[in-house]
Amino acid sequence: MTKDKKENSQKKDGDDKFAKLVSLCKRRGFVFPSSEIYEGFTAVYDYGPYGVELANNIKKLWWKEMTQLRDDVVGLDSAIFMSPKIWEASGHVKGFSDPLTECKKCHARLRLDTLLEDAGIFADEKMTEDEINKIFENNKDKIKCPTCGAKDFTPGKKFNLLVQSNLGNFTSDWTKEPTYLRGETCQGIYVNYKNIVDSSRVKIPFGVAQIGKAFRNEITARQFIFRTREFEQMEMQYFIKPGDDEKFFNEWKQLRYDFYLKLGFLPENLRWHQHENLVFYAKAAYDIEFNFPFGFKEMEGIHARGDYDLSQHAKFSSQDLNYLDPQTNERFVPHIVETSAGVGRIFLAALSNAYREEVNEGGEPRVVLSLKPSLAPIKVAVFPLLKNKPELVAKAREIFDILKQKWKCEFDDNGNIGKRYRRQDEIGTPYCLTIDFDTLENSEITLRDRETMEQKKFSLENLLTYLHQELD
Ligand code: ATP
Repeated sequence: MTKDKKENSQKKDGDDKFAKLVSLCKRRGFVFPSSEIYEGFTAVYDYGPYGVELANNIKKLWWKEMTQLRDDVVGLDSAIFMSPKIWEASGHVKGFSDPLTECKKCHARLRLDTLLEDAGIFADEKMTEDEINKIFENNKDKIKCPTCGAKDFTPGKKFNLLVQSNLGNFTSDWTKEPTYLRGETCQGIYVNYKNIVDSSRVKIPFGVAQIGKAFRNEITARQFIFRTREFEQMEMQYFIKPGDDEKFFNEWKQLRYDFYLKLGFLPENLRWHQHENLVFYAKAAYDIEFNFPFGFKEMEGIHARGDYDLSQHAKFSSQDLNYLDPQTNERFVPHIVETSAGVGRIFLAALSNAYREEVNEGGEPRVVLSLKPSLAPIKVAVFPLLKNKPELVAKAREIFDILKQKWKCEFDDNGNIGKRYRRQDEIGTPYCLTIDFDTLENSEITLRDRETMEQKKFSLENLLTYLHQELD
């Protein structure tokens, strides 16, 4: 096969898989388009019954890894709305922008850096308007509108991504002095740095972790939950002594990569991307990329940010944000190593990593989400063999009531057992239990394993031991 043919066929496979994942998300209640009964609301999504479980599992695992298993990282939940001065100090009001262009034929609004990159031409959002327009001019013939195929665009113009609101401003011209919905969660960490040092026992090096919503007026938001205008971030800022940057940057790089291996992500689906075009204050920046159905893309960023963040806030707030080392009596502005991940992107990566289609020996197809039990929305499904036998239903309920104290379980008495298994396979439930006449007679419960489809009989006591071993 020629290189072009191979690439085309890989793209088609990726597109097919992506369409299947989006359809599964809707069909099985993982993700719904926002405001769907009103024809939807672009680039915003709602997480349904199984989606919220999966997203919560991702957040719980991250929180445990970052705060519970370490004694040098504490948590924070700062507000979404903050003083607008924060966004001036951080540089977002002036510089948080992407280059926007418009197709002159179909009027689609597009990100110019992405259009260039998709055509294999190096560009990035940090370039100035002039820089990117120059590259654009020189390559005009290579750029096509992804919507209508036309080759005629307006010149690129920087578009600010901060979302504005009138919170606390009761005048009609509030747009002159807007309040912003936070564009990233980490600013809440920087501005609480002093509170945390003063109120807790943390000593440098230490970290602050936070999970929360962020908002960006993204220009193009195709790719489902990969790029949305409202999304959740999981960020950790690690405060260090100047000079220790490289050591802690490398340490966090490794830890964050290992986190994805623990989630069951296949090593071949992960890779590093080193940023070449660093912002002036950054010392190093790498992304962990995942092999999404549309190619390798950023899932998490790890950045060595120097003293930029605290120095800017010290300057704009006129507060002393120096750290006094209790041992050496040295005073310094801490440097920061940041880890920043998006819940939605890890969610999509987890589904893509776990999705499998197979045909069993009887020629029957099945779709399986091979999620690690820690990620699976439902850990155990409990089925009475027959819906119309009250004694089976009562026994199944009794077992369900015991298990649900410990794990998220589902009770299902609808349809034939085979169909109930398929449904659970598709949402990634590792174990299904069937309560049949043997259970009534000799207390044996049948456990069916999602991966092997093997069935084994257990007494209730042995079953509990087995589930503790496999699920905890
Ligand atoms: P991209 O280059 O893809 O726009 P970014 O470099 O702007 O991402 P960061 O500002 O570093 O992203 O944000 C950290 C993380 O937050 C990203 O790695 C990603 O997982 C997540 N994220 C950022 N923007 C979005 C978005 N619009 N929708 C969903 N997740 C996002």
